[in-house]
Amino acid sequence: MSHVIAIVNQKGGVGKTTTAVNLGAGLARLGHRCLVVDCDPQSNATRSLGILQSVERTIYDVLVDNDGLPIREVILPSNTEGLAVLPASPSLSGAEVELVNMWGRESRLKHALEPVREDYDFVLLDCPPSLGLISVNALVAADGIIVPVQCEYLSLEGLGLLTRTLELVKSRLNAQLELVGLVMTMYDARTRLAAEVVSEVQRHFPELQFATVIPRSIRLGEAPSYGETIFQYAPDTPGALAYSALAEELVARMALDALATG
Ligand code: ADP
Ligand code: MG
Repeated sequence: MSHVIAIVNQKGGVGKTTTAVNLGAGLARLGHRCLVVDCDPQSNATRSLGILQSVERTIYDVLVDNDGLPIREVILPSNTEGLAVLPASPSLSGAEVELVNMWGRESRLKHALEPVREDYDFVLLDCPPSLGLISVNALVAADGIIVPVQCEYLSLEGLGLLTRTLELVKSRLNAQLELVGLVMTMYDARTRLAAEVVSEVQRHFPELQFATVIPRSIRLGEAPSYGETIFQYAPDTPGALAYSALAEELVARMALDALATG
């Protein structure tokens, strides 16, 4: 069975792309077939996965201008075995406006992914830093969401808006959508604030917070410039170990869910 999971938080710079890319690579290293869908015009996930030149066909063509273009022709292999990518380019920014007047505007990504989703064990959707139509497409296409939360002051404020949007999407567009978990990112063990934010989020979302906390690590920040995942750029560093542990935790969580729902 395939799991489609959106990595979402309307705030920029919280670690969505870093998580989509390195969690995807971590899952692939465990032997799971994985696809990262780059839903952000900034195309950081595309570049982090080793696609550094501009590509002709992207998620934009799949969403907006598809003319029956098979999605398989747009998906590319990444720098990691077992991990594929549906690339983005800056042209995707136009989709936010162009989708408005299109038929089935909220569910175009869902329909586009249908022919390929069962080719993968995990499909990770790297969302842009907004709750516009592209993010809504991701929330409609997804079975679940993972929210990266930066270990800093005021992180909880943004979570209120996000949970309200989730409820709205659930009630109107995708009743199946499930909050899979919150992952705390950029944890700095030297600051008391980081520990406080972790326990604060834990208090508000018991059971949803992943036990794995992603440390702040210069290596994690550097890897994308080289078009590499953390497992290629700096294996055996705390960042790599954390994303590897997160992948294992996610697999265990999905297996438990499957048991619970029969
Ligand atoms: P988002 O996709 O939510 O905008 P990114 O994953 O792009 O966030 O992260 C924002 C910036 O912080 C990027 O430059 C990224 O390389 C860096 N970064 C992300 N996670 C970490 C981390 N755990 N430690 C250090 N830097 C990080
Ligand atoms: Mg991003």
